[in-house]
Amino acid sequence: MARIAYVNGLYMPRGEAMVHVEDRGYQFSDGVYEVCEVKDGRIVDQRRHMARLQRSLDELRIAFPMSPAALGVVLHETVRRNRVHDGIVYLQVTRGVARRDHAFPLPGTRPSVVVTARNLDTAANEKAAADGIAVITVPDNRWERVDIKSISLLPNVLAKQAARDQGAKEAWFVDRDGKVTEGSSSNAWIVTMDGTVVTRAADKGILRGITRSVLLEVIKAHGLALEERAFTVEEAYRAREAFLTSASQIVLPVVRIDARPVGNGAPGSIATALRKDFHRHAEWT
Ligand code: PLP
Repeated sequence: MARIAYVNGLYMPRGEAMVHVEDRGYQFSDGVYEVCEVKDGRIVDQRRHMARLQRSLDELRIAFPMSPAALGVVLHETVRRNRVHDGIVYLQVTRGVARRDHAFPLPGTRPSVVVTARNLDTAANEKAAADGIAVITVPDNRWERVDIKSISLLPNVLAKQAARDQGAKEAWFVDRDGKVTEGSSSNAWIVTMDGTVVTRAADKGILRGITRSVLLEVIKAHGLALEERAFTVEEAYRAREAFLTSASQIVLPVVRIDARPVGNGAPGSIATALRKDFHRHAEWT
């Protein structure tokens, strides 16, 4: 089946979908994005993703490209046209097309909007969750505004590739104090030996993941002890469990960090239970 992309008002075969060479996303990474999970053909937590998109756009002074209702229609239509049952929908908004100059273009320059959607290999994802994954740690060499979901992802790309080169699935960034910030495309969590779930506070140094926000509610509903604070790499090595969260992976147990087994080297019971219960707490549209 031919995949369809939405580009600035048109649904096009993906192979013919193009953006202008002077799009500021292409030239400067001057744009933001969102990735929502699609489950059973429905978009998960769209409202929260749209609220974060609004915030990212506001921080960069890019206008919201159309009404939120119209954007919701485009997201669902792209999911429908690509027959996505279980997968993701990707949305990117850039500052638009203008003659190359670092400063903002003239007011009225129309933001560019691209939406794509695709199925994910659910069997492979379930296997990864059942087996657990390996992560490596790398120095966090990103800019300070990682709270903005910017398409400027070069350090994340290099970190993910370093993980792949070492046979791992994800890289956890580590700040100058030796504390884990987040993954290259996910938030990072541990469970301490006394059963407390720990993840870094979202005030500085990380993206406020939507999956993270929803999972905080799941954790409370399960009556688990929770601490939003930074944790060191050493603490992660000694943890009972570790896991990561993202819209495309939900909750994924981590069983090795820098080639050392976490806990008994198998997915932990808390991570597994949280993964199982997540979608009961999420919103579906
Ligand atoms: N942190 C980073 C750097 C990410 O790129 C992502 C997702 O892409 C996340 C965290 C998780 O965010 P969400 O749960 O909204 O997918």
